[in-house]
Amino acid sequence: MKPDTDKTTRFIDEGRIAETLAAARRSSPARVREVIAKARQLEGLDADEVAVLMEISDSALLEEMFAAARFVKDEIYGNRLVIFAPLYVANLCKNECSYCAFRAGNTELKRRTLTPDEIAADVKVLIDQGHKRLLLVSGEEYPKEGFNYILKAIDTIYATKSGRGEIRRVNVNIAPLTVDQFKQLKEAGIGTYQLFQETYHRETYAKVHIAGAKKNFDWRVNVMDRAMEAGIDDVGIGVLFGLYDWKFEMLAMQQHIHHLEEKFGVGPHTISVPRIEPAVGSSLAERPPHAVSDDDFKKIVAILRLAVPYTGIIMSTRENADTRRATFQLGVSQISAGSRCNPGGYAELGDGHDAEQFQLGDHRSLDEVVRDVASLGYTPSFCTACYRLGRTGADFMDLAKPGLIKEHCSPNALSSCMEYLMGYASSETRQAGEKLVNHELKTMPGSIGKTANELVSRVRKNERDVFV
Ligand code: SAM
Ligand code: SF4
Repeated sequence: MKPDTDKTTRFIDEGRIAETLAAARRSSPARVREVIAKARQLEGLDADEVAVLMEISDSALLEEMFAAARFVKDEIYGNRLVIFAPLYVANLCKNECSYCAFRAGNTELKRRTLTPDEIAADVKVLIDQGHKRLLLVSGEEYPKEGFNYILKAIDTIYATKSGRGEIRRVNVNIAPLTVDQFKQLKEAGIGTYQLFQETYHRETYAKVHIAGAKKNFDWRVNVMDRAMEAGIDDVGIGVLFGLYDWKFEMLAMQQHIHHLEEKFGVGPHTISVPRIEPAVGSSLAERPPHAVSDDDFKKIVAILRLAVPYTGIIMSTRENADTRRATFQLGVSQISAGSRCNPGGYAELGDGHDAEQFQLGDHRSLDEVVRDVASLGYTPSFCTACYRLGRTGADFMDLAKPGLIKEHCSPNALSSCMEYLMGYASSETRQAGEKLVNHELKTMPGSIGKTANELVSRVRKNERDVFV
């Protein structure tokens, strides 16, 4: 397939980003406080305001910004954390991305493409752990079957059942597609299509993508336009932090969001914030050229929460448990748990670390993460209601307005959490989870509390998959 570059639009304006960054360096504390006050109105921020917040170095101002991020997170998302697991189906790849262990020229990696039976074996393990949402991930090479391989993999995931469990939402993170292929992906019943630009800086992009189709910056940066044209209205974007200056990337991401909002009336459903981790056969991943510090990483999460209040922020197990915990209150709304990043990793089909994409930072099981999250006062949510009820794209964003989201999501989070606790949790985790659920049921106000109590008691009476 030849990329149709004529149809691409150029919405990343590097000159403008440089000007905005330069202007923000002269911001007074009064201006910073003005921006923080605006963010507290839950209306989001413009690029120049994002730039002002990125320049904060004073610890008191930083604390004020973090407090605002906690406020916005709480107003919109409450204490829910949606949980998912990645499912790597294949680690073959035709590209040469210098940060990734899957790159074509890496001879240190064991290659594997899961067969339908192997996919089902991995999925069964995940179902038996209690997962309901998966993120299908793959390198960019599907031998013999081409893109059909991915469509069949999705079918296999949805068809796999174990006991009373099943996967109810499959999101995907796979190489950019044509509009026709996106239509087929939508037909297959995916939730979110996710893809990271890696870096929005053209020169850096050209340097780190050495060979293969991924070298084409425009084909990648326009991918969400094609997905949306094909009717996929939940799309997830992201940057691979560490390749280039994080401040540039944040403003470029704002331009991307603005472009999608202008053209399609809806921005990204989620934003991911992966930092580069060590990867077998990659010296760049060992020493990222623009490594992001833990302090700056927290700033990134908080600023995103303030800038795009209704968009989900995803935190993967690339990060260790402490970093993950620190970002929950600053704005993260979705987390992966118990992850493996090698094909067949859950069913332990053989290759272990030799087939991994990168080194994970959080090795805890789903059960341990659920216990930790509940003990910290967050509700682990396995809810998949929105997309199954057609609440996607602009409809979801409208619903995400404070008050409305709480009406649906808070009860659903509790009922899906109870389903997990009854079916899959260890006794210690069940205790921590029940304590949290009971507290939430007692304190949730009015009609939302009533709905939550009804849903949870239906689950307690052994009903499954109940939601509003
Ligand atoms: N192959 C497709 C692509 O590159 O877009 C989709 C899947 S790729 C396996 C998923 C993501 O992993 C990439 O977009 C990249 O951001 C991330 N990744 C690659 N190497 C990484 C590393 N060393 N540390 C952290 N994340 C990495
Ligand atoms: Fe292949 Fe994606 Fe890894 Fe690049 S990031 S080498 S395209 S799997």
